Amino acid sequence: MDVTTHAHVEIDLNAIQANATAIKTHSQGQLIAVVKADAYGHGAIPVAEALQTIADMFAVATVQEGIELRKAGIQKPILTLFSPLPDLAEDIVFYDLTPAVDNFTLAQKLNKAVKDGKPRSQRASTERVKVHVDVNTGMNRCGVRYTEAAEFLKKLKTLPHLEVGGIFTHFATADETDKSFAHLQLDRFSSVLTSILNVPMKHAANSAAALAMPESHFDAVRPGLSLYGIYPADEKPIQLQPALTWKARVGWVDFIEQGEGVSYGLTYQAPSQTRVAGIQVGFGDGYPRPLLGIGEVLIGGKRCRIIGSICMDMMVVQLESSDNVAVGDEVVLIGKQGSEEITIYEVAERANTIPYEILISIAKRVNRIYS
Ligand SMILES: *Cc1c(COP(=O)(O)O)cnc(C)c1O
Repeated sequence: MDVTTHAHVEIDLNAIQANATAIKTHSQGQLIAVVKADAYGHGAIPVAEALQTIADMFAVATVQEGIELRKAGIQKPILTLFSPLPDLAEDIVFYDLTPAVDNFTLAQKLNKAVKDGKPRSQRASTERVKVHVDVNTGMNRCGVRYTEAAEFLKKLKTLPHLEVGGIFTHFATADETDKSFAHLQLDRFSSVLTSILNVPMKHAANSAAALAMPESHFDAVRPGLSLYGIYPADEKPIQLQPALTWKARVGWVDFIEQGEGVSYGLTYQAPSQTRVAGIQVGFGDGYPRPLLGIGEVLIGGKRCRIIGSICMDMMVVQLESSDNVAVGDEVVLIGKQGSEEITIYEVAERANTIPYEILISIAKRVNRIYS
């Protein structure tokens, strides 16, 4: 049942398709579309469905995320970006996921699961499980150390039911203006590639590198954030369209008298009689609590400041006495209204975080409406 909600996000799947196409054209290779963390809050299943003919592969963080996509009928290869726990080998084989691998224990378990003829879903009909080797070139959070990668690949060759379908690394600083460490990582990765036999899919580039480091494109790029129309850094070599707009409705309008406080702790005190509006959105919806007193929303095409503490389910904004605002009016928290816009960069900066965190924090109870 569709009920009217106080707040929702609108997701423009055409924008995501256009962004994916633009990035793929720019990089001139294959596209591994990163849809981890519920496609950065946009909804992994609708986004993957929308990208089925554009993406060559999808990438997720966990085996569970991969299984959800398979259960939804997604057919393209699905990479798990982080070497999963060895205990998950049978699930990986069953659902025909392509795991990152950085340790031999997982490799052996995967090999054994295939060899023992463990149950397989219908689509997993091959005699081998494909893996992508994760090479640590300096990010130092996972992966096989670059100096040991060639040896590791040799060892994998001893497992007859395992096939190296790809090899990749991940940049720690590709979003910074100074690309010297990213280039050092690239050199380390390239040195591994020259010392091994050819692997079909070599990849390194996250959004920042996909946009600004063409020398890192190899066979495929691996963008997340930019698919959703958000630039990870100041470089904007291609045009991207933000896919998400966060809207709400005015729930309450009133005047408060001079000296009266607003919301928990009454930290805001009205300097004079003040017109205010209540909006049913709060940190329970993932709106960042640090925005009290500094965040703004759009009502009637104008910026209105958030006053008083942001509650779990409500926030209060200041209006001008002359504003013609009524219950039910549209509020924009992120996005455009009239000629004004509140960007995710602005919200993230004021909340002292990054756009990624704002997106993935938008709570489940906030309806996603697709167009
Ligand atoms: C999340 C992630 C990406 C995508 O990063 P963006 O900055 O969102 O483009 C690519 N590769 C790995 C290994 C990741 O963890």
